[in-house]
Order: sequence, then C-alpha cells, then structure tokens
Amino acid sequence: METKNQCLKMREVEEPYEVWQTPDGSWEWRVLKKWQLDDDKEYARWFCAVKSPFTFGSFEYGDVYVKEIKANAVKQEADPPRPEYDRCNAGHSLVLMEGSGGKKIWDCPICKKGMEEEENEITLPNGMKMWKKNGETFCGWKDKIKEGNN
Ligand SMILES: [Zn+2]
Repeated sequence: METKNQCLKMREVEEPYEVWQTPDGSWEWRVLKKWQLDDDKEYARWFCAVKSPFTFGSFEYGDVYVKEIKANAVKQEADPPRPEYDRCNAGHSLVLMEGSGGKKIWDCPICKKGMEEEENEITLPNGMKMWKKNGETFCGWKDKIKEGNN
C-alpha cells in the first residue's frame, strides 16, 4: 500500500498542515512538514513551529517526535474557509466578498461617507453608481436597473 506523503513540502507558519494544542492551550505545535508517511513509526518526526510558555509568544522551529505531540496535545479543527476580499469599485479599501467571486458586501467607509454627502448616491470612477435605499447599499449600473415603483 504505497501512498504519497502529502505533507512533505514545507509550509509557512500561517498555513500549517495541522495545529495541535495542549488542552490548556499553553503549548501549540504547527505542523509544517511531515518527514514520513507513517506517523506511528517509533521515531516519526514532524517539523514544527512550536509556541509554549517558554517562547514568550513567538515560535521556535524544529523537529519534534510525533509520539511526543500526540501524547500531550489534541489536534485542532481546521480553520473555516477564510472570507475573500476585494477592492471596492473605487479602489479605496478592501471589502468583503460574498462567496467565491460573488458580489461585494459594501463596507468601504469612504464610499459610504461619499454617499451620505452626495444625497445617498455617488458615481464611481468607473461609471458605476452606488446608492442607498431603505438602509441598504446597492451598487451597479443604475440606469440599467429597475428599482420598482419609485
Ligand atoms: Zn470605496
């Protein structure tokens, strides 16, 4: 049963394969590389970034025996997928995207402020308009969008 080691390529500390913590959270191992496929082997090692009461908030890097980690720590649930950000249409700041490649959720403070000052509607440099209606912020090519009965 030959399977490839999927964790052989070194990862950055912000993007570890796994995170293990002691139950009290005082120790943390971020697994950046697994040297072997079979972690149950006697001297199986992981290359880790380790945070502990002795590292004063920073990480120390080095090989750790898998057995040692498993005896003391619990594997943490993987982070939920991170939200995506994009620039607001005027390029001021990052705004949250709803879903991958989805619509922008407008929280650009500069655009919002501009809208308040310009009677709840502004035209962005690319010709797109933003406006407020019923407390909600809309964005689009307004002349092409029907707004109901108004
Ligand atoms: Zn903006």
